Amino acid sequence: MFAAVFPTDCLLCQQELAEPGGASICHACWESLQPWLGPSCERCGLPFASWQAVDFVDSLCSSCWQGEQEFDMARSYGLYTGNLRKAILHLKFHGREYLGNRLGALLARPWEALPEPDSAIVVPVPLHASRRRQRGFNQAELLARGLVRRLRKEERFHGLQLASGSLRRIRATLPQVGLSVSARRENVSGVFSVARPEQVRNRTVVLIDDVMTTGATLSACAAALKRAGASRVLALSLARATPQFPDVGVLDDLASPIDELRHN
Ligand SMILES: [Zn+2]
Ligand SMILES: [Zn+2]
Repeated sequence: MFAAVFPTDCLLCQQELAEPGGASICHACWESLQPWLGPSCERCGLPFASWQAVDFVDSLCSSCWQGEQEFDMARSYGLYTGNLRKAILHLKFHGREYLGNRLGALLARPWEALPEPDSAIVVPVPLHASRRRQRGFNQAELLARGLVRRLRKEERFHGLQLASGSLRRIRATLPQVGLSVSARRENVSGVFSVARPEQVRNRTVVLIDDVMTTGATLSACAAALKRAGASRVLALSLARATPQFPDVGVLDDLASPIDELRHN
């Protein structure tokens, strides 16, 4: 019974935990969840493989050059590879609240890169109601809660507002995985609406999601928020998936690629 409630093995490496009782990720694995510190797109945070690329593109990725993103700025904590990816999959499939709190707290780091976020309102990317019912939770919301909890420990963020219900996904969509960049945009276009525009009007909104790939979903959210009067939309995600940095690790029995498709 005890083991079912409190894992005794690390979720990521399956080694026995030194102190079972809710920590769920061992110290070594937790330390392996490193932030991306290399060069990246100034606007959307896309990690570049080398500093040379930064000179070449003048600090912007091609998507941002072409003005494709509706958000003003995006940042991610780390790369969607290895243990960070595994941890996100655990959160996504099992919605463990304590995992959401711990992982969400990591977003405090990319938060620091955002321009004057003090008066911002935090809004998780919503799931469609049917998906949310099916899964029982929204992983983006768990992360947003973890982040806000962490930030509120600082006095200047005591009043930081989390507005989980202010954005709605009004139409169920195909999974984004496997779609081309333009198909992804098409897929999420017009999918989001703002439930309470007065909550976001003339404010900076910080969107939270677990994984950012092309940014199509965050961009569609940002478009809806701006139509509703948000003055600025910034986006934070825990991990950035990019073909530049493929995940070379093999997936364990936690999730098959099909599961990942289904759950996106
Ligand atoms: Zn471990
Ligand atoms: Zn960019």
